Amino acid sequence: MTQSTPVPVGHFRTGRLAEGRPHALDAWRVTTDDAEVAARVASLLGGQPQPNEGGGELAHEVLTKVETVRVLMDGPDAVAAHMILWGSKGILHQCDGLEFLSPEEKKGQPCGCPPRFEDRRLAAKEGRGPMPSINLTFRIAAEPGLGEFRFMTSSWQMAAQLSDLTDALEQVNGPAICDLTLELVVYTTKTGRGVCYRKPVVRVLGSRDTVTTEPPPLAEPTPAPAPSQLRRKARPTPEPTIPSAMESSHSVSVSAALLRQAAEVLGTAGHEETVIAALSEVVAGRQQSAELVRLREQVGKIAAIAEQVLQGRDSSLT
Ligand SMILES: [Zn+2]
Repeated sequence: MTQSTPVPVGHFRTGRLAEGRPHALDAWRVTTDDAEVAARVASLLGGQPQPNEGGGELAHEVLTKVETVRVLMDGPDAVAAHMILWGSKGILHQCDGLEFLSPEEKKGQPCGCPPRFEDRRLAAKEGRGPMPSINLTFRIAAEPGLGEFRFMTSSWQMAAQLSDLTDALEQVNGPAICDLTLELVVYTTKTGRGVCYRKPVVRVLGSRDTVTTEPPPLAEPTPAPAPSQLRRKARPTPEPTIPSAMESSHSVSVSAALLRQAAEVLGTAGHEETVIAALSEVVAGRQQSAELVRLREQVGKIAAIAEQVLQGRDSSLT
């Protein structure tokens, strides 16, 4: 499942470092060592080329304006994946899910990874088992001549769909037109906490004969409302969670314990700020602007209630 490919002209990324901390982005970020490529990417996908100060070791970065890029993927070989667990002295466990790929002395032996994805996720979460490492190689469909780009992800959701992806790529005769999307996932946990994150998704659309290479309309991704962007604690790309039925209903409950938990997660200082930030997370969905307006009207009331609830209880909370 692994392959060696030529050095890509640039990398697609879902996050960047700011002040030394990783931030998840709402639109694709592209890094490259080639100033001309950076300029072309910016003109195709929006944004401005700038010196790369967001991590990734390449000289230039473009914070594009798009969450979907139409790309060309050349058959199943455009997808390379393995599972990997690093230890302090190097690779402990690299496998294809069945057999070790490294360390060298174990190569070819059964690696012992459980067959079920959920069990693999749990093992990785507990540091016992390897994480997915998926490399996608593609060209920008609107300008394939720019060269090959690479996107690396350890998304479990993408890992779970890899065989579907390679099957779909196999079925297209020749290079496949695909949409590479940073898809917004919004849902409410059982405890009522709003969660939103973006997961990378590839949709195979067909061959160049049947699908336009023009990218989808340059729809700018819905930015998360300012309070959550400003006040949300910097964090690595969140652990992907399988969303349940969601996006249409959200419950907001105000309790001291929940607010304290939210304050920890969101990095907020005051109760009012926490409520606003938490609600902003809930309503960050692109189709939820109406709900945002409605909730904004209620934020003041809820914040007031929360403050009342918490008055006199602060000493026990801190
Ligand atoms: Zn394994």
